[in-house]
Amino acid sequence: MIQRPKNMGWIEVICGSMFSGKTEELIRRLRRARIAQLPTSIYKPKIDSRYSKSHIVSHNKSEMKSHIVGDAKEILILSKDDKVVGIDEAQFFDISLVKTCRKLASNKKRVIVAGLDRDYRGLPFGPMPGIMCEADYLDKLQAICIICGNHASYTQRIINAKGQVLIGEMDKYEARCRNCYKNPND
Ligand code: ZN
Repeated sequence: MIQRPKNMGWIEVICGSMFSGKTEELIRRLRRARIAQLPTSIYKPKIDSRYSKSHIVSHNKSEMKSHIVGDAKEILILSKDDKVVGIDEAQFFDISLVKTCRKLASNKKRVIVAGLDRDYRGLPFGPMPGIMCEADYLDKLQAICIICGNHASYTQRIINAKGQVLIGEMDKYEARCRNCYKNPND
C-alpha cells in the first residue's frame, strides 16, 4: 500500500473505534517489516495490562512482544537501533507522544501508531487528534455495529461507570454506528 520513501522517516496512524482491528493491522504491518529484516520494536503505555504484560495482543489473539513504557520519551531511547517503531494504545499516552513521533520520524524511522480516536463519550482521546494531524498516512478503520450491522465508528460503554479510562473488552464496550450510538451525556 505504501511505497517506501528513500532516506526518510514517516508517521502512519491507524485509528478507529474498539473492535475495528487496529492492533491486528499494526501487527500485520510490523510482521511484514520483520519479514523484510528491518529491525522493529513495539511499545505500549503502562496503563494497558490486558491479556499480557509484555506482548501486544489483538482481540483475535494474534500477538507480538512489546515494551511497556512509562512515558513516550522512553521510546526514543529504547528504539535507537530500530528502523520501524510500532506504538499501540496510543490514546493512553500524554500529548508528548506527538513530539516523540516527530523526532522518531526525523531520525528516519517508520513510525506506526495505533489508537482509539474517540472515547466512550465520542470525544477526542488523549494525544490522538495531535498525532492524526502529524500523520503522513492515516487509516480510520471501521468496526461492525452490534445492533444493526452498519459500519461502526463509535465505542459504546455498556456498563454504568464514569471516567475516560476503564480497561475492558466486550464485557464493557460495544462498537456502534452513528444511529445506534447513545451519547452518555445526552
Ligand atoms: Zn447501528
